[in-house]
Amino acid sequence: MINVTKTYLPSKEKYKKYIDEIYENAWFTNNGPLVQRLEKRLAKYLGVKNIILVSNGTVALEIAYRTLDIKGFAITTPFSFVATTSSLVTNNILPIFVDIDKNTFNLDSKNIEKLITPNTSAIVPVHVFGNACEVEEIEQIASKHKLKVVYDAAHAFDVKYKNKSVLNYGDISTLSFHATKLFHSIEGGALIINDDNLVQKARYLINFGIENQKSIPHLGTNAKMNEFEAAMGLCVLDEIENIKNSRKEVYETYQKELKNLLEFQEQNENATQSYSYFPVVFKSEEELLKVQKALNEEKIFPRRYFYPSLDSLDYIEPKQMCKISRDISKRILCLPIYAELEKDVQNTVIKTIKENL
Ligand SMILES: *Cc1c(COP(=O)(O)O)cnc(C)c1O
Repeated sequence: MINVTKTYLPSKEKYKKYIDEIYENAWFTNNGPLVQRLEKRLAKYLGVKNIILVSNGTVALEIAYRTLDIKGFAITTPFSFVATTSSLVTNNILPIFVDIDKNTFNLDSKNIEKLITPNTSAIVPVHVFGNACEVEEIEQIASKHKLKVVYDAAHAFDVKYKNKSVLNYGDISTLSFHATKLFHSIEGGALIINDDNLVQKARYLINFGIENQKSIPHLGTNAKMNEFEAAMGLCVLDEIENIKNSRKEVYETYQKELKNLLEFQEQNENATQSYSYFPVVFKSEEELLKVQKALNEEKIFPRRYFYPSLDSLDYIEPKQMCKISRDISKRILCLPIYAELEKDVQNTVIKTIKENL
């Protein structure tokens, strides 16, 4: 069975060495030595100042909102993984959906200002499929209206914008290191915080809000990464260049074989790509369903990412409607892409699509 992605398995021997180290240390969690080592290595690899590792990407978003005291309404995109929206709702922040650009699939920054009200305190964009948002426009709008910006950068692990990490934009960017992502630590995530003065608060928030044995200044939670996850992260990080190169090869083959047949995502010209996903847009939902069925018969299971459009979720009140996002959601499919995808499997994917258009 071929899925849209496959967990990257680093060298087992190397992982075992780290496990031995964890046993010798007898230190499993609570900011252990491997978590600290991974933080340092990631800060350097990504080119960011302050990074805090946490237990997953969803809680990273929640900690970001609480670190910045975001309340009321947040302007966000309807075209993302559900966690972007559900993390807001969980924290009593109402998502106000701004429709996406039909070519980039990112929220359309031209439409943000119309939606700003006195209740708006933040913008929560997503670099969807690793495609960098219009970060400079968003920065201007945010500073003009004194809004916080939290980027859900779960897909943009090492994307560069004008030669610098895109994670340096906004007040905070969050990452997910879930097993299905480009870089993973089994489960895990991170906050990249630009204001040095907020780092300590975020560190308290991931550890129950505790400052020291006498003081608990914040309402915190438990969002700590453990040593076994950090060990996996250290192993995967050693191999990240190979992972990226083989994904790039898969990506470029799809691009070459399917251009002019299907619509692709339009990439930000000032940014590098992540090669994490290969989304294609069909002419109609019927065509998508036909291709999906044919692929399933070959035991190939692409995913309808992102579907449904988040502005249609039942628990969102009042009801909202983003026409472009709903339309794209119905017609978009993410094709299998991962480091060890065999050439003949990829050829079957391409052939099956071509035969069913
Ligand atoms: C994966 C993902 C998340 C959630 O991350 P987890 O680590 O699975 O909690 C959030 N936002 C986006 C866009 C994602 O793709």
